[in-house]
Amino acid sequence: MENCLFCKIAKKEIQAAVIYENDYVLAFNDISPQAPVHILIIPKIHISTPADINPENSSEAGRLVETAAAIAKDMGLEGYRLVMNCNEIAGQSVFHLHCHMLAGREMKWPPG
Ligand code: 5GP
Ligand code: ZN
Repeated sequence: MENCLFCKIAKKEIQAAVIYENDYVLAFNDISPQAPVHILIIPKIHISTPADINPENSSEAGRLVETAAAIAKDMGLEGYRLVMNCNEIAGQSVFHLHCHMLAGREMKWPPG
């Protein structure tokens, strides 16, 4: 999608520190990390928000979680937190589906 930051990152029009990539997903370091490990995992196709997941495209969402598991195994992470913000009120600022993968410090719950 035109003028979408993460589409541009997926197409390598904007640089990012890539952690993992396959035909469907791209994982790269968040520019403003909130934990020692803060990776964003995105589908290469444009989906705006988690609310736009449906039976036709839900495999894209599954791939994000699957990718996080593979990265965690590769990095030897003991545990991690996955976050998907949906719409502005929940903290979404980039409207291309993404999963935050946070690790490397203790995580509190509830998050606030
Ligand atoms: P959201 O607030 O939409 O859930 O998360 C968007 C995330 O994208 C934020 O954590 C923000 O730091 C990150 N971000 C915004 N612009 C860029 C960028 O140009 N490059 C990278 N690597 N991350 C970005
Ligand atoms: Zn996009």
